[in-house]
Amino acid sequence: MREQRFDVLFEPVQLGPVRTKNRFVQVPHCNGMGYRDPTAHAAMRRVKAEGGWSVVCTEQVEIHPTSDITPYIELRLWDDGDIPALARIADAIHEGGALAGIELAHNGMNAPNLTSREAPMGPEHLPVATWANDPVQARMMSKSDIADLRAWHRAAVRRALRAGYDVVYVYAGHSLSVLHHFLSPRYNHRSDEYGGSIENRTRLLAEVLQDTKDECEGRAAVVCRLTIADVDTAGGITRHDAEETVVRLDHLTDAWDFVLGSWESDSATSRFSPENEREPLVAGLKALSDKPVIGVGRFTSPDTMAAQVRSGVLDLIGAARPSIADPFLPWKIEHGHAEDVRECIGCNICVSGDMTMSPIRCTQNPSMGEEWRRGWHPERIRPKASDASVLVVGSGPAGLEAASSLGRRGYSVVLAEAGRTLGGRVAREATLPSLGAWRRVVDHRLSRISNDEHVEVYRESEMDEEDVLSADVTDVVVATGSVWRRDGVGRWHTAPLPVDPAAVVLTPDDLFGHPVERLGEGRQVVVFDDDHYYMGGVAAELLAGLGHAVRLVTPAPLASSWTVHTLEATAVQRRLLAAGVEIVTSRTVAEIGPGAVRTACVFTGRERAERADAVVLVTARLPVDDLYQRLDSRRSEWSRHGLRSVRCIGDAWAPGTIAAAVWAGRRYAEELDADPEADPERTQPFLREYTALARGNSYSRGLPR
Ligand code: ADP
Ligand code: SF4
Repeated sequence: MREQRFDVLFEPVQLGPVRTKNRFVQVPHCNGMGYRDPTAHAAMRRVKAEGGWSVVCTEQVEIHPTSDITPYIELRLWDDGDIPALARIADAIHEGGALAGIELAHNGMNAPNLTSREAPMGPEHLPVATWANDPVQARMMSKSDIADLRAWHRAAVRRALRAGYDVVYVYAGHSLSVLHHFLSPRYNHRSDEYGGSIENRTRLLAEVLQDTKDECEGRAAVVCRLTIADVDTAGGITRHDAEETVVRLDHLTDAWDFVLGSWESDSATSRFSPENEREPLVAGLKALSDKPVIGVGRFTSPDTMAAQVRSGVLDLIGAARPSIADPFLPWKIEHGHAEDVRECIGCNICVSGDMTMSPIRCTQNPSMGEEWRRGWHPERIRPKASDASVLVVGSGPAGLEAASSLGRRGYSVVLAEAGRTLGGRVAREATLPSLGAWRRVVDHRLSRISNDEHVEVYRESEMDEEDVLSADVTDVVVATGSVWRRDGVGRWHTAPLPVDPAAVVLTPDDLFGHPVERLGEGRQVVVFDDDHYYMGGVAAELLAGLGHAVRLVTPAPLASSWTVHTLEATAVQRRLLAAGVEIVTSRTVAEIGPGAVRTACVFTGRERAERADAVVLVTARLPVDDLYQRLDSRRSEWSRHGLRSVRCIGDAWAPGTIAAAVWAGRRYAEELDADPEADPERTQPFLREYTALARGNSYSRGLPR
């Protein structure tokens, strides 16, 4: 059972009329499933509840068509028609054994209302504050708009209670809510009783909290999610504002959940922010309140969590990402398996689901989002269905996950790795600046494999097709990874770049783990980033740190432009600029010569020569699939060697994210010996939820005749 020093984490906490069974709260988090995938959503939350969280919350729930954040897909509670979906999620959370929490949100000037086509609303006449800078303004709310807003919020609380929720969050966080906008001197310059002094700026929040308390009438707890610091925008909510708000409104809430002022800063990645970096911003606020305090910190260490409670910073340990990476985190600590916690690596691939309007995914937890769609569970897996034995070739994230999950199913597994080091690209990339936490992907799987008698690991065992055919296994999975291209082919150049043979051309594969000797010292280096995720930016950071003068050239309008989806883009630009990297956007490298490159404007094609002692090409990767191709071409010999199948997965099949490689490993393990007839509802490899058609021939309803 659990270690005594963690007992404090398992004490109940009274939240107004409800009592938690422990101190673990899965705070509201987006998931890209929202109103579109309610059943998949319910199953995901149920698994969290089963994993021991005392409260499991929804993401923000839009309370009205004037709070419509299309294209993002969150939950909605616009009218009674939305209640069944919300009730399904609450029921699932209750089934799992947790209290169900709902975060009611009016997004104010963060809602462009692209579906409802209502005019956005905010404290002032200002352009909407949306990711896409939509060409529409929020109009300044009048007194009657404020009265409407309160009425809509009250109606949403009533609907939330009908749907069965036990905890109602009032959302005033992240610059994403009208209540935050009214609180913030950045957005609120009103001269009436809702603007100016802190008393006035908190008035709307106070009224909405009072309304919510009145509606809940002791049936559900009211939690206020409050921005306590705007750390990356000028003129926003200050510590003084936060302190005043807590003191003034303490009597109107049953608990506080403190967040930072933008989602980017609140959900910073491990590349930019260590575990619990915000503690100094949260510390001291609890002393101003008589109510329990919830807070997050990407906590994965139970010792840090327990210290938060003991030192009086927090009463309840909030988690979004740690609960995604390991839905069973509380259960594991409670049952003495803290070392088996699948620690979040802080990469924000989970956030990218929401940002790309696709179902949530997680680098560490391949079952995230697949609970209902594919029937995957983070801790349980179907036992083996045959006496098959499997050779896994390659120990990158795909191979490690395949071996670990196959072993858990009870198959006999041999994992062969060419190198001395296990972990493939993750082991290599974790040596790059600020990516050390990514190593957890390898460590978790190695720890599971080392405790599993079904899995044998062979290092320094490069396999060729003869080795494989004579391996005496029934199934082979090739997970041999990928290499970075040296010819500049990628998104911009779909044919090789002209490169002078005398030019110094490197790829990220030359940067891992060693000091890039070929470069010498103090060189002028061009990093050509046509990949657009993290690697170009990280390579530039590494080289600048080694004292080179680095220019990052990218056809995109930002360095590492895809990191917009992981909430890192601002931090990437900031860090690169601080490191002295010159960011050259909307240009491509057109030709590489000795000591110079020609770059071209992506719009006009106009070229110019730039000095470059070396060029690092971060463009695309090539699968290392020759072993697979050779085995595939010898299919006719398989049965003679007792082989049933040879499959290729991960980057060797199609280079992608680490999350995709882990997922591919899990999929291979799940689908080995799968019976396609077993679930007749599953016409695709996964279940889909269909839009319910409106009754009758209603498509012509309302058209003038
Ligand atoms: P993925 O992301 O798909 O898991 P990685 O590139 O991270 O792929 O890992 C691939 C691993 O496969 C590397 O550690 C590499 O050394 C190993 N590997 C490649 N070819 C062979 C081979 N023929 N035999 C054994 N291991 C191999
Ligand atoms: Fe953590 Fe990355 Fe998983 Fe998100 S995707 S929960 S940041 S490991």
